[in-house]
Amino acid sequence: MVFHVMTLFPEMVEQGLHTSILGRAMDAGIIGVKTVNIRDYSEDKHRHVDDYPYGGGAGMVMAADPIARCFEDLTSGMTKKPRVVYLTPWGKVFNQQMAKDFAAEEDLVFLCGHYEGVDERVLEEIVTDYVSIGDYVLSGGELPAMVMIDAIARMVPGVLTNEESGETESFMNGLLEYPQYTRPEVWRDRPVPEVLLSGHHAKIAEWRMQRSIDRTLAFRPELMENVELDKKSAKYLRSLQNPTE
Ligand code: SAM
Repeated sequence: MVFHVMTLFPEMVEQGLHTSILGRAMDAGIIGVKTVNIRDYSEDKHRHVDDYPYGGGAGMVMAADPIARCFEDLTSGMTKKPRVVYLTPWGKVFNQQMAKDFAAEEDLVFLCGHYEGVDERVLEEIVTDYVSIGDYVLSGGELPAMVMIDAIARMVPGVLTNEESGETESFMNGLLEYPQYTRPEVWRDRPVPEVLLSGHHAKIAEWRMQRSIDRTLAFRPELMENVELDKKSAKYLRSLQNPTE
């Protein structure tokens, strides 16, 4: 899978992603990250890419033309029109299911805004998906693009090794992940829960599922509405909801 990032700060994206699991996947050729500098497509003699907003108001707006030409150049060799994500605080809030869906694409294009945003007309022309990474405003779309690329890449087959498998992570079964422990067995008088030392796989799985349910109820109770639980886990949930039953 190849991620294409249209940005004013290509080095920020390149440096930020070429480490750890993603760096290894890039070196192995499983994923690619290609950045293009929108400024290279400015025809202005000072290489400006922004201008004042029509109607007045604070800040500057990224002009349509350099972005459109950047996009046309970027996609000129592609046989299929790719999905194009515009990172924006008013987009649909990103989640794990979206990461899984995007991971099925061969090419995925990101448009990183800056300043007050981007001329609406070029968005109408090229964008297929409007995505936010949360209800707050950042200075540019580069960090959101990097967040999305990291989450999507983890869902691309071959990026995670078996040991790193994403299957048991938070959100994969609709629940948050159970608590994790490593050596030593006792740290500052705090022992590891005994069941984890038992070697009894079924009991460990049951304990983990129950702790996932506890944590989801404590931190993100709204997630429980869409979770499908097996009989045993549903019984545990009922016992929490109706302790006298
Ligand atoms: N004026 C815009 C608004 O109120 O919606 C905010 C512009 S913001 C300062 C500059 C750029 O950062 C945006 O065009 C977008 O690409 C990116 N950005 C900021 N916050 C974001 C978020 N929560 N999710 C995704 N992208 C974001």
